Amino acid sequence: MAEIQETSVTSARQKHIVRPSQEMASLGKDDMPVLTKAEGIYVYAEDGRRLIDGPAGMWCTQIGYGRKEAVDAIAHQASTISFASPWYMSTSPSARLAEKIASLTPGDLNRIFFTTGGSTAVDSALRFTEFYNNVLGRPAKKRIISRIDGYHGSTGLAASVTGRKGSWANFDIETDRVSFLSSPNPRHAGSRTEAEFLDDLVKEFEDRIEALGADTVAAFIAEPLLANAGVIIPPKGYHARFKAVCEKHDILYISDEVVTAFGRCGEWFASEKVFDVTPDIITFAKGVTSGYVPLGGFAISDAVIARISGENANGSWFNNGFTYSNQPVSCAAAIANIDLMEREGIVDHARATAGYFRKALESLLDLPGAGAVHSAGLVGCVQCLLDPSQPDGTEEDRAFAARVDEICFDLGLIVRPIAERCVISPPLVITRAQIDDVVGILRKAITQAGEEAG
Ligand code: PLP
Repeated sequence: MAEIQETSVTSARQKHIVRPSQEMASLGKDDMPVLTKAEGIYVYAEDGRRLIDGPAGMWCTQIGYGRKEAVDAIAHQASTISFASPWYMSTSPSARLAEKIASLTPGDLNRIFFTTGGSTAVDSALRFTEFYNNVLGRPAKKRIISRIDGYHGSTGLAASVTGRKGSWANFDIETDRVSFLSSPNPRHAGSRTEAEFLDDLVKEFEDRIEALGADTVAAFIAEPLLANAGVIIPPKGYHARFKAVCEKHDILYISDEVVTAFGRCGEWFASEKVFDVTPDIITFAKGVTSGYVPLGGFAISDAVIARISGENANGSWFNNGFTYSNQPVSCAAAIANIDLMEREGIVDHARATAGYFRKALESLLDLPGAGAVHSAGLVGCVQCLLDPSQPDGTEEDRAFAARVDEICFDLGLIVRPIAERCVISPPLVITRAQIDDVVGILRKAITQAGEEAG
C-alpha cells in the first residue's frame, strides 16, 4: 500500500494517476496545469493565472462555470435522495428529465435510456441494435458501419467504431463486426465538386452494404460533424442521403450527438435542424449537464421501440444497465442546466452568435499559417496550413499548431490542438467581446509562431 503523505497535487498525480491519452514513456513525469477554480468562461490555475476556456472543458461547459442554479440543484438532490436503484426504484429527476429531453429531440425520439457518459451512451446504443435484431429474429444483422475520422468513445464497442488510428494503437477492436467508410472531409474532394464528392461517398456506402450483405448490417453511426477529428463538416446533404440508404436496407441510423447536442450548433439537437436528418437513435452526454456531473444517454424513436415491445416483445428483456443509470443527482443537475439554458435563451444566443464567431475566426485568414476555417454554431477551428492549397496538414503544420497552442496558453487562452487544427468550442455563454478576446490572442499567437517559423 502506498504511504500517504503531504505532497503537491502534481506529484500525487504523477505518482498515482493514469490519465486519458497517457504517453507511457512520460508516465510519472509529464506536467500539466492544476486548476483550482472557475467562473463563467474562465478557469484559474494554481498560480492565480486566469485562462479563457476555449474548448469548454471537453466540449461540455455550455452554461459556464460556477452557476448557482446547477450547484443548488445538485446539493438539493444529494441531500434529498442521492441514489435509487434504477433496477427497481424510480425518482422524479430521471422521469422529468426524460420527459424534457423527449420534448427537445427531433421526430418521435421519445424513449430515453440514461447512462454515465458519452462512451457508455454509444456502447449501450450499439448493444441496443444487437438486442433489437435478436428480438426481431435477425441474428445475422449485427454489423456496424462507421467512418474514418469518427470518434465515439473509449469503452469496448464505442472504441471499436471509432475511426482514428491513434485510438486503436495497442488495443484490440472488434474488426469483424465494424466496417469503416472514408472520412467525409470535403477537403478530400480534390478536383471533384462537393456534390460529386458526396455522390462518391454515398456510392461507397451502398457498395459496402452490398458487399457485406444488407441482412448483416444493423446500424450506421455518425457524428453530425466530426468534432474530435478537428471539426470536419461533411458535405451538405450528407446525412439525409445516408439516412435514405439506411431506410432502404432497414439499417438503424445512429447520430452521435455527444458534442453537438444541447446548443453547441445553435439548436438543442443538431441532427434535424442543422444537418437535415431525423435519426432512429441519438446519443448525448456532455452539454446535458454542462459537465457539472457525469451523465449520458440515448433517445430512441417510438417506431423502433414499437417493433420490439408490447405484443412484439417476443419474451425479451433488455438486460443492459448501470448502477448509475437514472442517477438522481446527475438528472437533477441536467434539469437545472436545461432550465437555465431555456430561461437565459442560451441556445438562441449560440445560434445568434455563430455568424459573429465564424467571421471572427475568418478574420485570421490574412495571417501566414492560417489556412482555413471550419465552423458550425459555436464550434470551430483554424486549420494551420503553411500551404493553404493542401487539404491536410504536414508534420510542420502540426508543429506550428502545437506552437500556436503553447503561445495562446501563455497569453491566457486554452486551445484544443487536434493535429494541424486549433479548435475553439467555448462555453455557449461567451459574449461577442469575449470572442474578440479569443481571436485577439489567436492572432498574436499565429503571428508569433509564424515569425518563429521564419
Ligand atoms: N462520442 C463523441 C462524439 C464524443 O466526442 C465523445 C467524447 O469526446 C464520446 C462519444 C465519448 O464520451 P465520453 O468521453 O463522455 O465517454
